[in-house]
Amino acid sequence: MQSITEQIKCLIIGSGPAGYTAAIYTARAGMEPVMYTGMNPGGQLTQTTEVENFPGYPEGITGPKMMDDFHKQALRFGTDIRFGHVSAVDFNSYPYEVTIDDEKKINAETIIISTGASAKWLGLESEARYNGFGVSGCAVCDGFFFKGQDVALVGAGDTAAEEATYLSKLVNKVYMLVRRDEFRASKPMIERVLNTPNIEVIFNTETLEVLGDGLNVTGIKTLNNKTGQEMDIPVSGLFVAIGHQPNTGIFKGSLEMDETGYIKTVPGSTATALEGVFCCGDAQDPRYRQAVTAAGTGCMAALDAERFLASRDSSLIHLAAAFTA
Ligand code: NDP
Repeated sequence: MQSITEQIKCLIIGSGPAGYTAAIYTARAGMEPVMYTGMNPGGQLTQTTEVENFPGYPEGITGPKMMDDFHKQALRFGTDIRFGHVSAVDFNSYPYEVTIDDEKKINAETIIISTGASAKWLGLESEARYNGFGVSGCAVCDGFFFKGQDVALVGAGDTAAEEATYLSKLVNKVYMLVRRDEFRASKPMIERVLNTPNIEVIFNTETLEVLGDGLNVTGIKTLNNKTGQEMDIPVSGLFVAIGHQPNTGIFKGSLEMDETGYIKTVPGSTATALEGVFCCGDAQDPRYRQAVTAAGTGCMAALDAERFLASRDSSLIHLAAAFTA
């Protein structure tokens, strides 16, 4: 039996700070937004610990609690929040057609893309083999399992610094592997790492292989890229914190992107090359990638979408008036 295509005014794809902010604004503007959360409702912030730099929380707040608050605020104004992911888009006709979970079809008059970004992996075969058996991409989710043990963590940005500090409170020792001779993280984060006695930072070091006994991780093989020396470090866990890539695969071929996959928007707005399709948050932002900037662009996308619908409606009214005159 063929399912009936649902007709909606405004579709929001993704449920991080950008998507929820777009939802709050579009719902208050009477656009009856429908949001599909994706497979990880709340996005990246649900995997973080303390957020200290989001304005309005003087004492800080945990990522999951903050996303719960976003969710409640979007619901309060009537956003239709649904669990599910967009599996295909067809932007060749209007209203745009979107497929949910390979089944349900939706026609949307305007679309706000806020699909965010995901953690990157090293790409080692052994890393994939032991994923979930000692290899993790999220210290907050999995750190608990390594209580009192030794672990390694790869990366040198703010995420890595934050995760190393978080882990240091749970585990015996953190080996932090930095591939260059310097960090990328911000100064306060670096200081926090360097002032934590059970974090040992090892510079100029790459991970060659994850070692294991067939069941669990038992160590890692590293290479000093200055001296060429290889070393085995016995650890029971490896945390990978080397950045993120935008979740924009389903839009490939439909929207303009940069070489990494970030969706291109008109500078100073959230407009994509397609009329009525807007993009906000980390899916279009390789530069700032903050919760607060994501929320800011979510607000912009809502206002851009509202103006798009208003101008389209007024041109239809003019057209109708011309026919009846
Ligand atoms: P970044 O892109 O900033 O850093 C990634 C790090 O991983 C770099 O140090 C990079 O090394 C390293 N790396 C990349 N590939 C490899 C590899 N194959 N092997 C070893 N190391 C590798 O990503 P983050 O996720 O850390 O941060 C993203 C953004 O989010 C940033 O703007 C950051 O400031 C922000 N952020 C803010 C937080 C906060 O304010 N509380 C918390 C977390 C993130 P190299 O330096 O050599 O390129």
